[in-house]
Amino acid sequence: MQEYDVIIIGGGPAGMTAGIYAARAGAKVLMLEKECVGGQMAATAKIDNYPGFKSVNGFDLSQTMLDQVTNLGVEVKYVSVDVLNLKGKIKKVQAGGETYTAPSVILAMGASARGIGAKGEKEFTGKGVSYCAVCDGAFFRGKTVAVVGGGNTAVGDAIYLAPIVKKLYIIHRRDVFTAQEVEKAQLDKLIKAKNSNIELKLNNIIESVSGSGVLSSVTLRNVKDNTTENLALDGVFVAVGRNPNTEMIEDVIELNGGYIVTNEKMETNVAGVYAAGDVVVKQLRQIATAVSDGAIAGTNAAVFAKKSKQ
Ligand code: NAP
Repeated sequence: MQEYDVIIIGGGPAGMTAGIYAARAGAKVLMLEKECVGGQMAATAKIDNYPGFKSVNGFDLSQTMLDQVTNLGVEVKYVSVDVLNLKGKIKKVQAGGETYTAPSVILAMGASARGIGAKGEKEFTGKGVSYCAVCDGAFFRGKTVAVVGGGNTAVGDAIYLAPIVKKLYIIHRRDVFTAQEVEKAQLDKLIKAKNSNIELKLNNIIESVSGSGVLSSVTLRNVKDNTTENLALDGVFVAVGRNPNTEMIEDVIELNGGYIVTNEKMETNVAGVYAAGDVVVKQLRQIATAVSDGAIAGTNAAVFAKKSKQ
């Protein structure tokens, strides 16, 4: 059993900022991360809307934040949480065969990529179907690929992939994109450029993915007229939104639409349990709002832990 004041679950911008604030408030802090720090931020090629950086690579920004976190003495462990017991005065977290305890826990697990539900999607994941353009884009240099979706991630992925690949389709189930105006304008410029390699497939969904071992084509269905079309592709980058990682806590923590309900102190319905970042019910899921949540959660969690010892 290893004792801490604050345990943070998730090492994205919310979790890392919570670590910075809790450690600076004098707490002994453990941060658990199941994959690599940064979360969705680390998988974003170009971030142009985080104050202080005109433009920054998401992986680099994640590493800079991690340096700051570890310099402040936060212990970081790369392990997946198996059991969370958030009831009682002392919370217990089991991960990688160890039990960690603390009076305060901060839930900052973020959200995971959503699938499109196409036939063959699971079978071809890692064999042509990818959920991370920044991670896998380089494998498709000079090839023909598609990005699926119409939000910020899809448009950002398209802007990132267009210079790398030979041909890029954007498959979107509607005829308008919901990405921010700046990103939409950048994409528009690429589409209108001479010799543009981007082709839009609007009002279309991917019905099935096929190939022999690796992906070689998809079947599209036009949602307006129900016609189908076969498209030869080497890769499909799915960017259709994210689902909150809250399965583990749904019996204990109040959720709304799968997201954690917090107040302005980032407190959940359970005393000593805080939440921050994309996993929380909020209007705007951005790095800037994740770090804001993290600062509040980290500060309050440290105060709670201190009081609980008195
Ligand atoms: P999102 O904003 O939720 O957009 C999801 C897109 O996928 C929408 O176009 C949606 O279409 C489409 N879609 C959803 N389910 C689908 C399905 N089953 N089949 C086909 N298409 C489907 O998701 P996101 O772009 O991943 O962004 C997630 C969050 O991160 C957002 O809050 C976003 O603002 C934030 N983010 C911000 C930035 C930035 O500021 N630069 C970058 C990346 C992400 P409909 O419109 O028809 O629903």
